[in-house]
Amino acid sequence: MPPPTHLTETGYVYHPLFVWHDTRTHAGLIPPHPVAGVQPGAHYEHPDTKRRIHELLEVSGLLDHLVRITPRPATDLEVGRVHTRRHVEHIRSQSLRAEGGDAGDGHSPLGHGSYDIALLAAGGLIELVDAIARGEITSGYALIRPPGHHATADAGMGFCLFNNVAIAIQHARAATDLRRIAVVDIDVHHGNGTQAIFYDTPDVLTISLHQANCFPPNSGWTTENGSGAGAGYALNVPLPPGTGVHGYRYAMDQVALPALDRYQPDVILVSCGFDASVLDPLGRQMLTATAYGDITRHLLDAADRLCGGRIALAHEGGYSPDYVPFCALATLEALTGTTTGNTDPLAHIVAGWANDPLLPHQKAVVDEAARLVERIRTATPATPATS
Ligand SMILES: [Zn+2]
Repeated sequence: MPPPTHLTETGYVYHPLFVWHDTRTHAGLIPPHPVAGVQPGAHYEHPDTKRRIHELLEVSGLLDHLVRITPRPATDLEVGRVHTRRHVEHIRSQSLRAEGGDAGDGHSPLGHGSYDIALLAAGGLIELVDAIARGEITSGYALIRPPGHHATADAGMGFCLFNNVAIAIQHARAATDLRRIAVVDIDVHHGNGTQAIFYDTPDVLTISLHQANCFPPNSGWTTENGSGAGAGYALNVPLPPGTGVHGYRYAMDQVALPALDRYQPDVILVSCGFDASVLDPLGRQMLTATAYGDITRHLLDAADRLCGGRIALAHEGGYSPDYVPFCALATLEALTGTTTGNTDPLAHIVAGWANDPLLPHQKAVVDEAARLVERIRTATPATPATS
């Protein structure tokens, strides 16, 4: 019996330049200050996490199950559908400096040439979505860097330069038959940039599951629910710190999946951050590699049920160099329907930490968000794509 299509047609975007984006010497988040005793070290958004994912995919043999998609730089037109000229010029000029610069908030360093790498990341996701739109593949993972979901139309922030997911969405709406698009953001931080860019339109549904009041501060509450014609089309589930496997499963079952069912998208995009893992330094959530695989399977089932299996995952955050590769492997195993045998070697340690039952304060937040799902209308009048 032939396998379902998504088992054999999963795309994968990666390029060595993605790990050459230089976030420079830091003390985690802040610039070093040796005189004040702040030692130089690595920035949290460090290339190794991404490089180790790619290498584990290769060593485990999973890479053999993926269709390689070659990235190309996003064009001025494509980036300009989302970002202001001022922001694009800011990134370009900072990137021309030999010493690099910052994308906008003082915590998003970039190195010499990072502008071109950011264009390649956005263009890589465009190529993945295009291949899905053409039916060459049904699903895929873009292991791109720098990440994008915090970037707004006019500013970079939170390690993000350009909003890769938003750029790919506006390209899809302008140049393919994929017009009604849902974003599920599972990064531990709020997908504020993507939400802001599509806040006033029902053409894009944004759903963000994140740690409450983590980053950006005071962002991602359930009261942020879209405005104007987009009222009801931004959903937030601000999960309390310490939420584990069962809390996330409840949020998926009560909010994300019912919202997708009501919305009936043409394609699902996932802002995939592995910083909700139990070992992440920049989040306090409790997901395991196994949980990431389960979440992916649920999203894949939704894509199969609603939009011919069309789903694209874009890499966002994830800052534990040791654990993130196993979260990514579990995700890619789920996406391809394969098992490599390279199972999470830390599973026996972390499973007990992450297995708390759904707790009342977590349930209350999810239930509050779930009440907003009914604001999503299954059918909306067709609106012309922007360009
Ligand atoms: Zn994040």
